[in-house]
Amino acid sequence: MSASITTDVVRAAEVIRLGGLVAIPTETVYGLAAHALDPQAVARIFEAKNRPHFDPLIVHVARREQVEGLVTRIPEGAEALMERFWPGPLTLVLPKRECVPDLVTAGLPSVAIRIPDHPVAQDLLRTSGLPLAAPSANLFGRVSPTTPQHVAEQLADRIDLILDGGPCRVGVESTILHVGDDGRLTMLRPGGVPLESIEAVAGLVAMPDRASHEGAQLAPGMLPSHYAPRALVTIVDSFEGLADPGEVGVLSLEPVREPGRFAAVEVLSAAGDLAEGASNLFAAMRRLDAMADVRRIAARLCPERGLGRAINDRLRRAAK
Ligand code: AMP
Ligand code: MG
Repeated sequence: MSASITTDVVRAAEVIRLGGLVAIPTETVYGLAAHALDPQAVARIFEAKNRPHFDPLIVHVARREQVEGLVTRIPEGAEALMERFWPGPLTLVLPKRECVPDLVTAGLPSVAIRIPDHPVAQDLLRTSGLPLAAPSANLFGRVSPTTPQHVAEQLADRIDLILDGGPCRVGVESTILHVGDDGRLTMLRPGGVPLESIEAVAGLVAMPDRASHEGAQLAPGMLPSHYAPRALVTIVDSFEGLADPGEVGVLSLEPVREPGRFAAVEVLSAAGDLAEGASNLFAAMRRLDAMADVRRIAARLCPERGLGRAINDRLRRAAK
């Protein structure tokens, strides 16, 4: 099997209805989608990605009303977030109904849900009429895909179809928020919606205590090492004085001094814009990784605000 790249949404919906796997464009990254309520179809996602079963999946829906069919209740506070940020790169973790397979939630009593803000994803969700479970369309632990070609490189012979929706606009995965019964919000993963924007609508958001039992229960998929290219990634304070610069691929938000010293330089945003930087991050990591001269990748962290939080989270995990 070698999945073709297509724009045929009707065919993609048919594949999904038959229990197949379709890579789909979203505004964040490409997802690997299957019928979320069909455990066999969902099992194929884990197989194709080599994803461990303790890492739960996000369920994508077309409309707000579909959420009620998947969760037992919508805690106070979640409503305002849906209203403000959906469709968009915000995932809410809510108490699940029995119809959601345990495989989707890794046995957790909660399910992660969002409405993607991409016309092709929405078209497929509406045409199939189904909720779609979809993690990023890459091999587990590797760099996430932001173009159909990225998907094809890793998964072409493991999935049924790749839907082409062009390059992803946001470029990093969704922000994940756990909503407690009392409405308390905990950020499980920084992503496409900045923390500042969420707090402006919903008040203070807690950060999970990764060491605590509760943290582990809330977010079994928050693995420290992820997004890893083949080359060794190091976080550096400065690009000056690096050993053997001729073997180093530089990953920088802004332009660097004397770029000619290095094997390669990827500047995420000429103007140092964090949103533009996020949208270029994964493709830049892949380009550096593909260069024969690049033995090591050196990256500098961005300011810890706005989309900078999501960029830094991905860089730190790529460096582990
Ligand atoms: P991705 O690999 O981008 O699809 O992200 C899926 C991530 O969502 C997982 O790795 C978890 O961190 C998180 N997630 C999904 N479902 C749940 C859930 N029920 N509770 C907590 N976190 C979840
Ligand atoms: Mg992923």
